[in-house]
Amino acid sequence: MDNNKQNPAAASGFKFENPDAAGKIYRRILTGDRPTGPLHLGHYCGSLKNRVALQDKYDTFILIADIQALTTNFDHPELLKQNIFQVALDYLAVGITPEKSTIIIQSMIPEIAELTIFFSMFISINALKHNPTIKTEAKERGYKELNYGFLGYPVSQTADITIFKADLVPVGIDQLPHIELSRKIVRRFNELYGSTLIEPEALLSEFPKLIGLDGNLKMSKSYGNAIFLSDDFDTVKSKIRTALTDKSRIHPSDPGHPDICTIFSYHKTFSNIDLTKNTENDCINGSIGCVQCKNNLFESIKNILIPMNEKRQYYKERASEIWDILLTGTNKAKKIAEETLREVKNDMKINYF
Ligand code: ATP
Ligand code: MG
Repeated sequence: MDNNKQNPAAASGFKFENPDAAGKIYRRILTGDRPTGPLHLGHYCGSLKNRVALQDKYDTFILIADIQALTTNFDHPELLKQNIFQVALDYLAVGITPEKSTIIIQSMIPEIAELTIFFSMFISINALKHNPTIKTEAKERGYKELNYGFLGYPVSQTADITIFKADLVPVGIDQLPHIELSRKIVRRFNELYGSTLIEPEALLSEFPKLIGLDGNLKMSKSYGNAIFLSDDFDTVKSKIRTALTDKSRIHPSDPGHPDICTIFSYHKTFSNIDLTKNTENDCINGSIGCVQCKNNLFESIKNILIPMNEKRQYYKERASEIWDILLTGTNKAKKIAEETLREVKNDMKINYF
């Protein structure tokens, strides 16, 4: 019996093996971002911080999804190069390291596009149209007509995950329908062609969305309510100064309502327990003003950004090192992608020569 066929993971040199309580082994995670601009504190809390921890436990593959960025930003492809660089710099600044994580540029691996085409036979247009995440995103972006690429991006995401033989995909709750869809596609494919592609599982992030400076439910660069990881301290300070607080509080001695205050929600995320507790009490008692409270928050966020800035400075002066990291990661991933595609074509009996 062909062992690789039995266990497609075996051939790919996994670094880790993590059994869960039931003994199932997880090895590789696939995660990533669309290079549409600089990453912000929402990305840090919602995914980056977790990735830094996960890279010690799993063989971590991080995809800079430039083709997927085109699904919404196709009018400015010339921005991709600088955005890829910016995202990679943000990764390295937060502590993702090339020794532990493989960072990949999506468009450099055309095998992903090829697998996407094969997978596209296994999903109906209606299933995509009614996918709750697609619907929400289309609405947020004001799309009436969806282009083929945008509608199909969950299919290409399935190829991203599958081509690298990833077991786990760290996601927020809003992305769960996509993982379900990926599992369906892979199951159908395996049933039909006798393949042993890995059915990915979601590794659900527990962090709720970080709200925006304007009080919007989501910090997002398209809403203009974000603190970027690359913002200098003066910018961070002035952004915090303009953030929405409890509107009913006119004078510093007025009793405040921390439960509805953006700044207090940031304290809960970024400040230590003592400062957070004191802030809550002092705000309710009217013994701290919003200006002081915002200054304290600035110090907390600054403490998180300082070590990032040191790494950022190092890499900023070594641009070619960043491109080397991307090239090395992409080349390593490409070998795995080629191997998966070879297996897939064998299974489909479309290996002609
Ligand atoms: P764009 O404005 O281009 O939509 P964005 O800044 O909103 O970009 P997304 O591409 O929507 O970022 O987010 C990608 C992923 O980053 C999300 O799936 C989520 O995991 C994480 N993320 C983004 N914003 C937040 C946030 N405010 N809180 C928590 N996680 C976030
Ligand atoms: Mg968004």
